[in-house]
Amino acid sequence: MNPQTAVFPELDAAARPGKAEREDHKLEKRLCREVGRAIVDFNMIEGGDKVMVCVSGGKDSYAMLDILLKLQQRAPVRFELVAVNLDQKQPGFPAHVLPEYLAQVGVPFHIETQDTYSIVKRVIPEGKTMCSLCSRLRRGILYRVAEELGCTKIALGHHRDDMLQTLFLNMFFASKLKGMPPKLASDDGKNVVIRPLAYVNEKDLIRWAEVRQFPIIPCTLCGSQDGLQRQVVGNMLREWEAKFPGRLENMFTALQNVVPSHLMDPRLHDFKSIKATGQADPEGDKAFDAESFAPQVAAKIAFMAQ
Ligand code: SF4
Repeated sequence: MNPQTAVFPELDAAARPGKAEREDHKLEKRLCREVGRAIVDFNMIEGGDKVMVCVSGGKDSYAMLDILLKLQQRAPVRFELVAVNLDQKQPGFPAHVLPEYLAQVGVPFHIETQDTYSIVKRVIPEGKTMCSLCSRLRRGILYRVAEELGCTKIALGHHRDDMLQTLFLNMFFASKLKGMPPKLASDDGKNVVIRPLAYVNEKDLIRWAEVRQFPIIPCTLCGSQDGLQRQVVGNMLREWEAKFPGRLENMFTALQNVVPSHLMDPRLHDFKSIKATGQADPEGDKAFDAESFAPQVAAKIAFMAQ
């Protein structure tokens, strides 16, 4: 069993070939639908866009490129895709794998070679995590490359589970209710970054990588430990999902259903000037929000409130 199916053992489709084929077809349709839905919901790609698809060699970015290529064929608007890989000169990075794959699928591509690995190694003391500097350098380089290639959008392969993990990491370690946006303007204001996999769950991407036999390049070449907390939070979320199926989907939906008046950030809601208006507000506070409980509980609350 490969490491991915060890995390999600139910994905080991090798044991059930007939059923797996049908499920693979459904999976492809689902992936196209979810990516298409995210693109439309957040207006990620418009006619005339040139989208730089960042490909790292991991399952997520391979899947993103794969699905975007499929959607490009059917989209009502014309847009270009160019795959970009940043070779950071990590020891053992198999530099031939991505160019061979990208040439084989026939997508225009660019490999940018920048030895950020040496810089990070030189600057960060031994034993300290390197990811923060490494990703900052990578981001700057990718923004520059996007400009040089005339790209109007930069697509990153983060998925729904990455977004939920980021939400919890920010709460646990940065005391912020902040996730990972599906679309944002880059720090320098010159680029628009999009995450077309925003609605896709990781399980589907793991399976799709197996179906499509992507030539995965391991992400551990640099030997950094920074992913540890992310892994812990990832495991926590997977355990929750196993115990309470649907919980991740509910949490993800909650990210699109924010009620600032029921949080505590005075920058988002003017709590100080709240006064009784004497007018009933159908959208106002219902004290117990009874309608969101199970019907029996709601009925009991309604009775007690009379
Ligand atoms: S895991 Fe390695 S390559 Fe990835 S961001 Fe961290 S230091 Fe950079």
